[in-house]
Amino acid sequence: MTEAGDGHRPTVVFIGGSGRSGSTLLERMLGAVPGVGALGEVVHLPARGLVERETCACGRALDLCEFWSEVGERAFGGWDRVDGAEWRALQARVDRTRHLPLLAVPVRRSFRADLGEHTGRLERLYRAAAEVAGASVLIDSSKNTSTAFTLRHLSLPVRYVHLVRDSRGVAYSWTKEVERPETARGHLMPRYSPAATAAWWDAFNVIMGLLPATGTDVIRVRYEDLVTDPQAVLRAVLGPTGLPIDPGWDRFLTPAGAELGPGHSVAGNPMRFTSGVIPLHRDDAWRSRLPSRDRRIVTALTAPFLARYGYLGRRDPDRPPGGA
Ligand SMILES: [Zn+2]
Repeated sequence: MTEAGDGHRPTVVFIGGSGRSGSTLLERMLGAVPGVGALGEVVHLPARGLVERETCACGRALDLCEFWSEVGERAFGGWDRVDGAEWRALQARVDRTRHLPLLAVPVRRSFRADLGEHTGRLERLYRAAAEVAGASVLIDSSKNTSTAFTLRHLSLPVRYVHLVRDSRGVAYSWTKEVERPETARGHLMPRYSPAATAAWWDAFNVIMGLLPATGTDVIRVRYEDLVTDPQAVLRAVLGPTGLPIDPGWDRFLTPAGAELGPGHSVAGNPMRFTSGVIPLHRDDAWRSRLPSRDRRIVTALTAPFLARYGYLGRRDPDRPPGGA
């Protein structure tokens, strides 16, 4: 068990999850706990925040946002001193799925140098963010497996959450149209076919499943448990960080749902822009709205993990013969 970090040495909680698994919701709920600072998908900060000047959840660009401008000042002497395109290129030489073998064992000297430079910058960023937020625990919901393996090389304590959600719910979600309000042009989030989503979901869970083999502690959380028993899930995630959980810590959880402010999430799902009471309920729309042919394809392609994560109950209409 790690001590709760102080402002100078925060504990980073990394949320890894295939897209549309509820990582933004989990992050925002964690960020509502006193002493916790939610940063959003930090992996996108160089490209989206600095190069493309997309907005923080507060609606302002990073150098105009009260939180991130202060973080940039403390970490780097101001964002104008950070070359976003150069950082994006450095990040691309390190934080990519194809570099996973090197991230596991960085045998190449040039790779080690880039890795050290990139994680050094992240570390300055996290330390500054902890100071500005007055938080000892930070949430980074970057989700990507390569980012999870990158953060293993940070000298700060990092706790990993492997967030899973029923692949059929994930597949259905990726077929829906969702707007990205942070882009001035009102772009839509990309959409993917159920079979493509299933293949990606499997690959993601295979790679996240390798993380414990590197000696990393990983806690697995199901989205469906988060919305039905949020207190238990949040405690399970925060307990190992050593964060003191004071009475009344869960005041934001009301019978109507989770009462969440806008915060300063740097990038992520459009849900980060909504504030107020977010109802908590299992989103099972896929059961009726995902065409049965698609449902059967996704179930067949993802059956081993569905079974491992406890999603293939006896009554599941698509349960493979003999169980998975
Ligand atoms: Zn902001």
